[in-house]
Amino acid sequence: MAPLLPYDMGTIVEVSVIHAGRTTVPTAYVVDRPIAGHNVLDMPCYSFLIENRRLNKKVLFDLGIRKNWKEKLPPSILHQIQSAKALVDIEQDVADQLRNANVPLESINAIIWSHHHMDHTGDPSLFPPSTDLIVGPGFNRNKRTFPGYPTNADALVTDDAFSGRSLVVLDFWNAMTIGGFLAIDFFQDGSLYLLKSTGHTHNHISALARTSKDRFIFLGGDIAHHPGEYRPTKHLPLPTEIRPSPLGEEISSPSVCPGSIFEAVSSANIRGLDAKVTPFYQLNAAMNEDLKDAEIALEKLLRFDGSSKVMVIISHDASLLDVLPFFPRSINEWDVKGYKAEGTWRFLRDFARAAGGTTDESV
Ligand SMILES: [Zn+2]
Ligand SMILES: [Zn+2]
Repeated sequence: MAPLLPYDMGTIVEVSVIHAGRTTVPTAYVVDRPIAGHNVLDMPCYSFLIENRRLNKKVLFDLGIRKNWKEKLPPSILHQIQSAKALVDIEQDVADQLRNANVPLESINAIIWSHHHMDHTGDPSLFPPSTDLIVGPGFNRNKRTFPGYPTNADALVTDDAFSGRSLVVLDFWNAMTIGGFLAIDFFQDGSLYLLKSTGHTHNHISALARTSKDRFIFLGGDIAHHPGEYRPTKHLPLPTEIRPSPLGEEISSPSVCPGSIFEAVSSANIRGLDAKVTPFYQLNAAMNEDLKDAEIALEKLLRFDGSSKVMVIISHDASLLDVLPFFPRSINEWDVKGYKAEGTWRFLRDFARAAGGTTDESV
């Protein structure tokens, strides 16, 4: 059953995706039992500019990677990056891209962090003191997140993010519920909801942005790291014929390919489950502070992903790189333009080698 979506109060937000850096890690670091040939997880880092034109307010959901990460990040994170054999790449950060598009940094009312990981926190110190920093519940009561480094040697975030600006810690005490998630109506006009989705980290939040009267974009943060962790399901089964074929080089290619070739490579088979309606991958304990909570949050997400009224975008979905238009363009017309239809099964190209579709070593 589709989740009960919040009723329309007449206001939408304009959403654009800012590509703010890229990391790659071995797939085994992120999911249980990577599919043969899917050895490296390509993780672009998305930041989202969300604009409420009625209130003349702009917020950013996540900031991607900061340019001076090597100099500024705590040694424990640099060590983690090294031991994970992660590559980190950032050319133009969010502040650069906003300036280039003539969006003054002073016009950004708040930065919302989905959680405290370095591929999401960017560099808030580039923004003026009038830009608030909004974080999930418990952020200021956990020594991994507050106070920041170097004041607090255990912190995984830096002091410079907070200094001179308001830190707003969300409190879901009086929250409503949307699709099983505790939710805060951020602008109090039904245009943007912040959802408590802890599990990946203790402070993880997601967002639900209304892009038209009855259409939404679900910003999932790191609720998952690859679409194979939440597709297919009984809410969104693997089609018999996949169109456009994820094996096609060009997204515009009209080719079709049978779903069965991918069913055969799913880890669901090993678990004795129906590969048509079971996600290809499972979350792992290493990637999630509380695996049980992360699984509960993901389970709730599945129903949003299965709804034709919602497009789910997680922070690191590389399959959307050649489907979505990026900032300064908006993705509000995702439904009319068919981005969800084109993008849903695009991730299957990561399994092309296992499915026998290509011998390209770079896939
Ligand atoms: Zn994370
Ligand atoms: Zn991340």
